[in-house]
Amino acid sequence: MTSLDELPIRDDLRGQSPYGAPQKSVRIALNVNENTHPVPDEVVAHVAAAVERELRSINRYPDREFTALRESLAGYLAGRVRPEQVWAANGSNEVIQHVLQAFGGPGRTVLGFPPTYSMHSIIAASTGTAWVTGERDADFTLSPDTAVAAVERHDPDLVFLCAPNNPTGTPLGLDTIEAVYEASRGIVMVDEAYAEFMPEGKPDAIGLLEGRPRLLVSRTMSKAFAFAGARLGYLAADAAVIDALRLVRLPYHLSAVTQAAAVAALEHAETMLRTVDVIRQQRDRLIVELAALGFAPHDSWANFVLFGGVADPQTTFSYLLDHDILIRDVGLDNHLRVTAGTPGETTEFLEVLARMGR
Ligand code: PMP
Repeated sequence: MTSLDELPIRDDLRGQSPYGAPQKSVRIALNVNENTHPVPDEVVAHVAAAVERELRSINRYPDREFTALRESLAGYLAGRVRPEQVWAANGSNEVIQHVLQAFGGPGRTVLGFPPTYSMHSIIAASTGTAWVTGERDADFTLSPDTAVAAVERHDPDLVFLCAPNNPTGTPLGLDTIEAVYEASRGIVMVDEAYAEFMPEGKPDAIGLLEGRPRLLVSRTMSKAFAFAGARLGYLAADAAVIDALRLVRLPYHLSAVTQAAAVAALEHAETMLRTVDVIRQQRDRLIVELAALGFAPHDSWANFVLFGGVADPQTTFSYLLDHDILIRDVGLDNHLRVTAGTPGETTEFLEVLARMGR
């Protein structure tokens, strides 16, 4: 086998690292912010039946326009958008890739606010879009003034906001999104992968879409909806944006199996989201108990908690792994991130951590 360096790979990919959350077989995996509750039997049975039905015609290409799925997703968004305003792909990562393929690319820039979701800059790089960055305020918050100053400094073609932000969990005010939209000339994409975990009644960015044709909101079934393995992410925006994404997607990018599984699961939205309350409680419990252990947890509206005050993240990470618990070192000094799992998983994590100390 030759080495990667010897291949005639694109110059801008030389020396880059792929996305690399460790995939290890452990008893308690709290590292990639999945919903760790098992899928209820009734949903498994219904999805299996839908997939089986689909298999009878799997000799044919799937519906390229994933019509039924777009209708189901519009319904899931409580009818606040029309099916023509919905896009979907194999995970919101692919949605983000489509957005950058259509609106970014060589000679264009996307502005982000690190620390933020690592794939935003990685997909920017793979699509040849320059990644430029703005600062955050205290405790990873992002005020309208700070965000607008970065937009004015960089004049980007796209702005990526993440609400709540990964890996920090930080909420983002709608006022910041509105201000960024007003200040920018390009696409503003709000990554709302964790929206369902926000406190009850808090407004999301979908409510801002009306009258803002450059605003895009991406979502996923991978987190609250407990469907990460199926790979289904989606986006809501003006119908013209959806037309732009059609130009870059590969034909039939969503398999018939994926479409059928997602449509069937969405019929059980209430059941699938039943665990959200429990997860929110575990998140809030983590914040309280991590502080009691002497760590410095950050406020979170997502299903994970970033905590500081870790003397040596690598040592703590390894100690937990030795106890069959996998969490995430996101590369921030003295910090680690943990997903809010089931009550039992949270208890074990906290107990092992308490035994180790800081
Ligand atoms: N956005 C954010 C903020 C995320 O944290 C993730 C997953 N970690 C994604 C998008 C991508 O998720 P998926 O491709 O599974 O939809």
